[in-house]
This record gives sequence, C-alpha cells and structure tokens, in this order.
Amino acid sequence: MNLKQKDIKISNLKEALDKALKIREEKLAGRIKAIGFKCSKCAQCCSAQYGDNTVIVFPYEIKRICEKKGLSRDDFVMPTPSEDRDSGGNIHTFEWVLKKNCDCIFLKNDLCEIYECRPSICSTYPFYIDDGKLEVSKCIGTGGNISTQECLMLAALLKERYINEIREAIALIDKFNGFNPGGSGNVCVHDSEGEHWMHYNYKH
Ligand code: SF4
Repeated sequence: MNLKQKDIKISNLKEALDKALKIREEKLAGRIKAIGFKCSKCAQCCSAQYGDNTVIVFPYEIKRICEKKGLSRDDFVMPTPSEDRDSGGNIHTFEWVLKKNCDCIFLKNDLCEIYECRPSICSTYPFYIDDGKLEVSKCIGTGGNISTQECLMLAALLKERYINEIREAIALIDKFNGFNPGGSGNVCVHDSEGEHWMHYNYKH
C-alpha cells in the first residue's frame, strides 16, 4: 500500500466514522426489537460443533482481559492464520483471535469464564453493524422477546463496537509499513498499536 492508497483508505474510514458517531441508538434499538432476541444460554456461539466460533479481539480488549483476569496476552490469543509472507518467509497477519480448544478456551460447562470482560463480538452477538447497517448472525435466540431497555443497551454496545472497529482500522492503516522482515520471530501481527513480532507455531 503506497502513501496515496493509505490516505484514501483512511479518509474513507474517517467518513464512515463520522456516520457511525451519528447512529441513533433509539433507531437501532427499534430494529433490534423488531428482529427480537432472547439469549437461551445454549453456548452454541462459543462451541465448535455449531459452526465458526472464531472470536476476533482488539488490543484494547486484550488489555482489559489481561487486567481483569491476571492473564498475559499469549495465554489466550493467537495471531490469525494468514497466507501473507515477507521476503524472509515470515507470516504477516492483521488480527488476534481467541485461542480455541475446538470450543473457545474460556468456555467451561457452557459458561463464559470471562463474561464480565468478554470481547464485544460476544457481548453483542448475534448482531453486528456492517457498512452502517444492522446485520444478524445465525442464532436460535433471534425472534425472542426482548425488552426495550435491553434493546437500548444492546444498541449502545453495538454502536460502541462499530466505532471501535473503525478507529482500530484507521490506527492500523496509519501504522502499517508493509510486510518487512527483520522482527524477532516468525509471525508479525499488524494492529492499531503497530507491529507485534513473535515465535508462533500454528501446528500446536
Ligand atoms: S469469550 Fe466467552 S462469550 Fe466469547 S466465545 Fe469465549 S466463552 Fe463464548
């Protein structure tokens, strides 16, 4: 990505951020109410046997979990697998994901061990905002009865998540300097904080 491409991408994202900041939570809550949702505590979204249970986590969420749970980053996240390589054969990737043991590593007896500080993708499931529009993932809880208060809380969380996603993308692109070899390790994660080099074996 050259400087001009970087500027264009950042400018587009800033436009999206302006729109995101203007999202009306009441309106969003109304849409959630119309779709309906009641979490049945089935834990299917955290389990491997019901589909993709990948959870992307941002640096600020990783820090929050570390602080609240006394963990270090590498205890619970891994770099997302990627086909991108630099000239030295090192892997470059743009996201962190929660580790899995098939199921999410934080799922114990169908309960989330980090419930109070779980990533926003979990606290807003099955909803997400894409390009300003409310979208819904497959979930047996959709269509359920949800109170207006719960809709408003969910709408606020969704808006916050969407804004954070855009801000993370802006910071990531701003700091990104290409796939250059030379760090300490075989994998480099590019995120909103810059480059994180590490030794990581995807086979374990
Ligand atoms: S962090 Fe918690 S809510 Fe999110 S997938 Fe893991 S167990 Fe489920």
